[in-house]
Amino acid sequence: MATVGVIGAGVMGKDVAITCAANGYDVILSDHDPAVLAAAPRDARQLVRKFRMMSPTTGSWKADEILGRIRFSADLGDLAEADWIVENIVEDLAAKERLYLDLRDVCGEGVKVAANTSCISITKLGAALARPEDVVGIHFMNPVPLLECAEVVRGFHTSADTIKRAEEFVGSLGKRSIVVNDMPGFVSNRLSHLFMNEAAFLVHDGVAEPEQVDAIFKLGYGHRMGPLETADLIGLDTVVNSLNVLYEEFQDSKFRCCPTLKKMVAAGLLGRKSGQGFYTYSAR
Ligand code: NAD
Repeated sequence: MATVGVIGAGVMGKDVAITCAANGYDVILSDHDPAVLAAAPRDARQLVRKFRMMSPTTGSWKADEILGRIRFSADLGDLAEADWIVENIVEDLAAKERLYLDLRDVCGEGVKVAANTSCISITKLGAALARPEDVVGIHFMNPVPLLECAEVVRGFHTSADTIKRAEEFVGSLGKRSIVVNDMPGFVSNRLSHLFMNEAAFLVHDGVAEPEQVDAIFKLGYGHRMGPLETADLIGLDTVVNSLNVLYEEFQDSKFRCCPTLKKMVAAGLLGRKSGQGFYTYSAR
């Protein structure tokens, strides 16, 4: 089985790492923050235990087996042996471009690079690597082990072979690929960030409390989660960063970020991952 190098051990990186390992891949999980990396084995084990209880697909997951396939490394050079690299670092173009420039020295011929970005152009990221034809967007949905599709994003230079390999990779994780063309926010986040942001504005304007906004989506529209619960799950910092990318790229005021969201992030209220967002969480 191939080796997957996963960069970024935050909310998405850990989910991607355990999903790949559960499906038989050897995984190298990397992060530049020593504290994040030190906590990652324990966090990943807890996630495996949590997902075991959440669906029949993940019900047979064995923590020792999955953790046994994941190596944790601070050294980007270790990813040289990977066949796939899945990048999940912070939603910041400059940070991602710096990382992709470093990856030029790491990725050999034939290595495919998947950017798991919410909104950033795959074409821009591809331009930072020597072979942009090998770069593709694979926008995994959160929580990765439970959701049934990934948005596969074709950058300007992404080759047909890379798209085919991405579809095979996503399929090997038990998910359907939906292939779309590159444009900031793709399909999913161009839509979802509008309603999450507008939901935050409803709270900001004093129209409704968060649980009322979410209840209307769940009870009235039959959605599994409301927009503010979803924002908390994603991470409010990532939501703000994504809105800023959309605003900047489209130069359209419909993507202007709600001041309450910015204020919450400045105050350290990041949603589930910090224990407090629109709601309070006892366990992260
Ligand atoms: P996060 O903040 O939880 O984690 C990001 C991690 O990247 C952190 O651990 C940080 O230390 C690490 N990092 C930052 N710069 C790095 C570098 N140069 N090298 C190595 N590690 C580095 O963020 P997240 O929610 O996991 O999001 C990661 C990416 O996935 C973002 O681009 C985001 O838009 C995208 N995404 C997020 C979600 C979601 O629901 N959170 C869903 C789909 C896609």
